Amino acid sequence: MQSRWNDEDANRYAEAARAASQSDALGLRIYSSRIIGGDPDLVLHGGGNTSVKVVADNGSKLMHIKGSGWDLDTIEAPGLPALHLAPLLEVRDGPKLSDLDMVALLRRNLIAADAPNPSVEALLHAFLPFTFVDHTHATAILALADQPDMRETVKRIYGSRVAYVPYVMPGFDLSIAGDLVYRENPGCEGLWLENHGLFTFANDARKSYELMIEFVTMAEQELDRAGVTLTGPQSNDGQEDQDLKLRLERALSQSNSPFEKAVFLDYRSTSAIRDYVANERLEDIARRGTVTPDHVIRIKPWPMIIEADASEAAILEALEAYAARYRSYFERNAARQSEPKQMLDAYPRVIIVRHKGMYALGSTEKAARIAGDLCEQATRAINAAEAYGKFTPIGEADLFDMEYWSLEQAKLKVAAH
Ligand SMILES: [Zn+2]
Repeated sequence: MQSRWNDEDANRYAEAARAASQSDALGLRIYSSRIIGGDPDLVLHGGGNTSVKVVADNGSKLMHIKGSGWDLDTIEAPGLPALHLAPLLEVRDGPKLSDLDMVALLRRNLIAADAPNPSVEALLHAFLPFTFVDHTHATAILALADQPDMRETVKRIYGSRVAYVPYVMPGFDLSIAGDLVYRENPGCEGLWLENHGLFTFANDARKSYELMIEFVTMAEQELDRAGVTLTGPQSNDGQEDQDLKLRLERALSQSNSPFEKAVFLDYRSTSAIRDYVANERLEDIARRGTVTPDHVIRIKPWPMIIEADASEAAILEALEAYAARYRSYFERNAARQSEPKQMLDAYPRVIIVRHKGMYALGSTEKAARIAGDLCEQATRAINAAEAYGKFTPIGEADLFDMEYWSLEQAKLKVAAH
């Protein structure tokens, strides 16, 4: 992976920030967030987050962190709201905060009352004692992070430069766990989040960004070493069957479907997707879960699979089977929750057409396209993960906790507006 850093561009962003009475650091943070967001093999659509710590005119420390609803590739200063840093650090050694308490703490410390909600990873960004903190879900990292027992391999690849964080749910728990691992490994330059992604940090914008590029490159080299080719984004060149599309549209727009009013179908058929949908173990692999936890809110825990010649009746049958599977997943997992949960709709967001390609579904064109982009990246990560070892993402219980996490559901609502 190549660094996209360009000093002239960086200076332009720093100057623009100065002209707007903001700090140079915020300008550089906007710049490096955008070059991260510009690479689909680092982050996609609202994925990943970045922060910068600055000192206000009155001497108090602030942290700018990505706000909910913003994408890194188009981020601007309002998408990186500032918070008072000191009160965030106080909770580090305190009791566990509930989701509501954490959001309240973050909102209470925002400088602008009308700012978007800070990222759910804000506390981890705050705890890490570096000016710049970058977090991505890079494709090469996911191919390796979704493997069983990677602690020793991560150590072999990165030595003491990257510390290993076993999977914990994003939010408060990950912030505490990540901070603990950092403190046990002083001098590390990054955190490897099992089943999730990577953090890098430095006091210099370029250094933090280029550590990310360097560590992702090392993951690519590890795949190479194992004889695994990680393909880059590919052209969507497979032929779409318009008759099948019509049958799908009719089946999906039945009454009581979330797509009753409108359904958008985003078809993808790249060579990596065709490899994946032709895999003889497709059912097994597709049901294991999503490549990174937050994908589950957009594409559900697993796709539905149909044959290329499926009739409308066969599609309806597949939808029913999907709903039954989804309902039992919900019931099994809702039973162990302390608070009652309300089941979301039991329709897939991804429909795989065996040997051909895949459809991402949305009730808006944008939702379908976003889901399609996530699947395109996920497919490349899964193919590489299977070629390297065994694609092993978070299990059903963790997928459920993520899908039914109130903070993730809130994110979707923000995105809908
Ligand atoms: Zn993440």
